[in-house]
Amino acid sequence: MRRLVILGAGYAGVRAAQTLTARLEEMEVVLIDRHLGQEILTEMYKVAAGHREPARVEIPLHRLLPHHRNLRIVQADIERLDWRRREVLTSRAAIAYESLLVCLGATPEYYAVPGAREHALTLQYLDSAVRVRRRLERLARRGGGHVVIVGGGLTGVELASEIASGHPGRFHLTLAQAAASILPDEEPRLAAYAERVLERVDIDVRRGESVRRVGEGGVQLSSGALLPADLVLWTGGVRGNPLPQEAGLPVDGRGRLRVLGTLEVDGCPGIFAAGDVAAVPGPDGHALPPTAQLAVQEGFRAARNIVRVMRGQEPQPLQVRILGMAASLGRGRGIARLGHLSLQGRPGQIVHEPALLRYLYGIGGLGLLRREGYLSWTSPPAATPQAKSDGASRLLGH
Ligand SMILES: Cc1cc2nc3c(=O)[nH]c(=O)nc-3n(C[C@H](O)[C@H](O)[C@H](O)COP(=O)(O)OP(=O)(O)OC[C@H]3O[C@@H](n4cnc5c(N)ncnc54)[C@H](O)[C@@H]3O)c2cc1C
Repeated sequence: MRRLVILGAGYAGVRAAQTLTARLEEMEVVLIDRHLGQEILTEMYKVAAGHREPARVEIPLHRLLPHHRNLRIVQADIERLDWRRREVLTSRAAIAYESLLVCLGATPEYYAVPGAREHALTLQYLDSAVRVRRRLERLARRGGGHVVIVGGGLTGVELASEIASGHPGRFHLTLAQAAASILPDEEPRLAAYAERVLERVDIDVRRGESVRRVGEGGVQLSSGALLPADLVLWTGGVRGNPLPQEAGLPVDGRGRLRVLGTLEVDGCPGIFAAGDVAAVPGPDGHALPPTAQLAVQEGFRAARNIVRVMRGQEPQPLQVRILGMAASLGRGRGIARLGHLSLQGRPGQIVHEPALLRYLYGIGGLGLLRREGYLSWTSPPAATPQAKSDGASRLLGH
């Protein structure tokens, strides 16, 4: 049977697998990831602050992608891409393919700041969010301490707010932002509101100074100022997963695969990419931002184009739909932008809250919401280790 391999079961990879299995019955679709569940990264700050249990933000793949005869899910570490020989080398086996879709996501961007990689923790995946949670709990048990969050984008702002509301009065929190304002990509009115909310819960916002180095005891800013820190959390940005660059595929300055508007990797027929791993050109020609909503759209378009190419049709460019933005600021407050409508306070939080439900509904409709327990009055079932190992044996046996 002809084989198509998808690397990575995140937002882009899951959407692509779902689209492809429904449309390409003549091909085997192999989805490879190191986890047997999709980690819902947009919920990681809640895990870190202790507001959500880790098992609730890892949705087993067998629940997201049930009953596809031509789908095989392989749990393995992807170690190398040998695209000239059309082979993926994993910790379990070498897997040959006819067509490849790379959805490997991102990795933190440290901008070569000395000590950042060694001393700061991130929220990039569930295991790192759990590590942050444990460190915060340990510090809280000892009476608190100083926590510096580097990066005043959405992730940094949400994380700072969530820690402040999860551990009230326990920590001295500082948000260090290199740009002149927090949330620089958002409407100034919403950014100013967010800053007021942060300051009201005693988060010290340091703007306009970049981080020069990170050490064991704290952070040094470009002004020379030293911020003492028992814990440094890095939310300063992301770059593409390193595997494509290591394989010699074409990447931009941030390690993201260079792709055309059709999601085909530039100059590499048969290889497509979607999500944070790819620099997808937007309507203005600049790369689109790394967001879950775009990763889903890109995964879908890449999958549709793979089918079109296999059927001898022209691939079509991605038509981007930016649905808006929503961020939680803790304690029932938030900010949101929906088209021309900007919301703050409680209305902003109300828009933000059902984001996970909207995602699950988009992937699997009411059936998935029911399987995940969101349509019952009792508390939703967790992805217990038992459920995961059942899933593993069933899916790997495909
Ligand atoms: C803390 C946080 C909060 C965020 N909040 C928001 C938000 O509110 N709204 C929003 O739109 N976006 C948000 N984002 C961004 C959003 O999560 C990403 O844009 C989205 O996850 C990208 O999807 P993806 O499919 O490209 O990558 P991912 O979802 O990261 O999936 C990549 C997959 O590849 C797998 N993988 C990677 N390397 C290997 C390997 N070597 N071997 C095997 N498997 C591998 C990973 O296990 C993972 O499953 C947030 C991100 C973070 C980290």
